[in-house]
Amino acid sequence: MNGFVTPIFLSFLGVCFGAVAGSFLNVLIHRVPLLIDASEGQVSVWGYISGLAWPPSRCATCDHALGWRDNIPIVSYLVLRGRCRFCHDGYGVRHLAVEIFSAAAFAYCMVAFGLTAKAYLAAGFLAALVALSAIDIEEQLLPDVVLAPLFCLGLVFHALYAGGLTDAGLGAAAGYGILWLIREAYRIYSGGEGMGYGDVKFAAVLGVWLGLAAVPAALFLAFAGGSALMLPLTLFGRVGERAPVPFGPFLAFGGFCAFVLPGLASLTASVLPA
Ligand SMILES: [Zn+2]
Repeated sequence: MNGFVTPIFLSFLGVCFGAVAGSFLNVLIHRVPLLIDASEGQVSVWGYISGLAWPPSRCATCDHALGWRDNIPIVSYLVLRGRCRFCHDGYGVRHLAVEIFSAAAFAYCMVAFGLTAKAYLAAGFLAALVALSAIDIEEQLLPDVVLAPLFCLGLVFHALYAGGLTDAGLGAAAGYGILWLIREAYRIYSGGEGMGYGDVKFAAVLGVWLGLAAVPAALFLAFAGGSALMLPLTLFGRVGERAPVPFGPFLAFGGFCAFVLPGLASLTASVLPA
């Protein structure tokens, strides 16, 4: 069996699992904001479960039910050139991007950790970062229904495979505390809402997954990434200086880098007090 379970086999398996997971993420990205809107935020756990499971996939434009051949992750999108078979309306490139990223994340985790619970948890974390980014870009929302389970899974992951529960708790407190302070400072300084409370909670989730030592690296990369993208856009007048900018994708970027490059954490750990 050892000769068979090669990196190529693991990558192939990861791509298959990840593409299917990405297809589910697209449903989640589309439906969670609709469920929250429809019930003015009072969605029960059962409401989310049933709302995600039913009805089967439909075209968002013409409402035509999609058959199995319209639902093969990545492949259907490429064959149909990103359009609905019935009304030919475009699905948007986000569908394909989410499935490809999810496939890559699962492949990476399977090769790095083998066919283990650790690999599935880690892949779930990376895939959830994509879902949160997409929902934040499209709806300026980081829903608790994704953040809360991700926080709990992070506790399990960190307790079993990383620095333990104490480190997870300290990481969450650091992530939450740092973003809370920045958010409050901005509010006092400018009188406006610079950052949503969802971003503060998201930073706590990252802290649970990454542990205390990696939090500074993740947040630094998030702010650096945000500045690198927003500065030119602001200078060239593409966005107003006070336009709300979703920060979730940048937090996801920082969390992703700190997770797949653990060396970043030891870099910052060396400057933190022991
Ligand atoms: Zn259609």
